[in-house]
Amino acid sequence: METFDYVIIGSGSAGSVLTNRLSEDANSTVCVLEAGPSDWHPYIHLPAGFIKTFHMKSINWAYQQEPGPYTGGRSIYAPRGKTLGGSSSINGHIYNRGQRQDFDTWAQMGNRGWGYADVLPYFKRLERRVGEGDETFRGRDGNLTVTTMEWKDTLCEAFMAGAVSLGIPKNPDYNGAIQEGVSYCQRTIQNGLRMSAAKAFLHPANKRQNVHVRTHAHATNIIFEGKCAVGVRYLKGGRGGEPVEVRASKEVILCGGTYNSPQLLQLSGVGSPELLQSHGIEVRHALPGVGEGLQDHYAPRSVARVKNIRTINELRQGWHLWVEALKWATTRRGLLSLSPTMVYCFWHSGETTESSDLQLTFTPASYKEGVQGTLEDQPGMTVTSWQQRPESRGYVRIRSNDPFQQPIIQTNYLTHELDRRVIVAGMKLARRLLKSEPLSPYYDYEDFPGPKVQSDEELLAAATQRGTTTFHPGCTCRMGPADSNWAVVDDQLRVHGLQGLRVVDASIMPRMISANLNASTMMLADKASDLIRGKTAPEAVKLPEAAVA
Ligand SMILES: Cc1cc2nc3c(=O)[nH]c(=O)nc-3n(C[C@H](O)[C@H](O)[C@H](O)COP(=O)(O)OP(=O)(O)OC[C@H]3O[C@@H](n4cnc5c(N)ncnc54)[C@H](O)[C@@H]3O)c2cc1C
Repeated sequence: METFDYVIIGSGSAGSVLTNRLSEDANSTVCVLEAGPSDWHPYIHLPAGFIKTFHMKSINWAYQQEPGPYTGGRSIYAPRGKTLGGSSSINGHIYNRGQRQDFDTWAQMGNRGWGYADVLPYFKRLERRVGEGDETFRGRDGNLTVTTMEWKDTLCEAFMAGAVSLGIPKNPDYNGAIQEGVSYCQRTIQNGLRMSAAKAFLHPANKRQNVHVRTHAHATNIIFEGKCAVGVRYLKGGRGGEPVEVRASKEVILCGGTYNSPQLLQLSGVGSPELLQSHGIEVRHALPGVGEGLQDHYAPRSVARVKNIRTINELRQGWHLWVEALKWATTRRGLLSLSPTMVYCFWHSGETTESSDLQLTFTPASYKEGVQGTLEDQPGMTVTSWQQRPESRGYVRIRSNDPFQQPIIQTNYLTHELDRRVIVAGMKLARRLLKSEPLSPYYDYEDFPGPKVQSDEELLAAATQRGTTTFHPGCTCRMGPADSNWAVVDDQLRVHGLQGLRVVDASIMPRMISANLNASTMMLADKASDLIRGKTAPEAVKLPEAAVA
């Protein structure tokens, strides 16, 4: 049986960063197991290819959530990357770190070394910010290129002017001192091509002699000796493939993501004894928090019909598309270099919130109802609005002991009363933004939720019928103290009560942050690499007093 120092399960955002950092030590060997194929497909790299990879089962786990009490009986589609780079290879490219309080709250929950001043050096170390940015907050020398959207669009400009007319300031850098305000998006795009975690971190590492990346390697079990993880069993080629075992002389590190990491722990006998026994799995280690606590951002998309101007809906049709394809081929710019979202707006649901609790996005395009990712034919514009820090929590639980059966994903969106209030406030703000004076030359009429929908109850009912995930699931293997009944890992990301096993991915977040999750997942993996290698953490950043939100 082959033995490596580290066996990493999953080559996604976290797995890619971790592979890069752990293999910096030429004396350590690293084996990476990835269930999906290599990331060769051109749609992964072309930014507008997002619309295609969204449903491509060859590189996407394409999960379905369970219907929840507030999803109108709908089972919501939950894409997840299944290729080198994981979800960073199919995501919407947005780079957004979150707010200072997000990480200070993690620290307050009993996680030493995870406050904002502690994690900021890792955000900085990872990135190569191109464009505006205060050096206190932004990095210039990392592998991950972060650029600002360069497409200047009349509708986007009018939307931002509309936000300013409502008292929402322009913010030159929402990843800087404060998040709130409105601006074009920052993206992990370089020269018109996606900058996935694989491109930034895994592929450079894979050139090293001590890195062994195995694709089509679906991990089915963590191998234990007593309470110590010593290796991983996987099937080469997936279901029905040849079983292979690899040993880890130092550690097994689970980077399977928010849905698959708890699933693999449960399949390996780590989790709630009742759940495991109900599926005939021997309990290796009772840990009731595994899979529990799932959080995600739930978003209704408000749509207005547009007049007097062309939107992306028409630009991707007929000869326009050929022109755009030529533009991309010659300049790496234009429609095919775009992300699904172009403008970001962070604002408050009410006067009493200290920092923004609403995130709104604007796109000069609209999507077919019920067919996410597919553009409509007639001109439209969309404001998507979500609550940044929801309270509702759900779970991920195995459906059976079959490692190829998708787990039960119950997000329980909007089950908390606060979440329902904030989502309604977000829809009201979306409506005000779409109806703002600067957008009026182009605003035709409201298509969704529609003018008949006015009261809070009606808005909530509309959100229930049409809201979807924004693809930010986290918190199913939460980091916290051993004496809590919910924590799965400690603040070194070691699984409580076991040896030789860590979880390092979006699942360890103890609570949802005010952001899309890619940036913070890479940050936590970078920090984990120092913890694993026993390296001294970089000095905490001295923050200016004003950096509140
Ligand atoms: C469609 C979509 C759009 C998004 N848009 C954005 C955005 O614009 N900005 C942003 O910040 N975030 C976005 N996100 C979220 C962000 O990309 C994820 O939160 C982040 O990539 C999660 O990283 P991770 O390392 O936890 O998991 P992943 O990146 O999902 O990696 C997990 C990896 O583990 C592998 N794996 C799982 N199980 C096994 C197994 N049993 N054996 C072997 N390998 C396994 C998977 O195939 C995958 O490669 C989006 C996500 C999606 C899906």
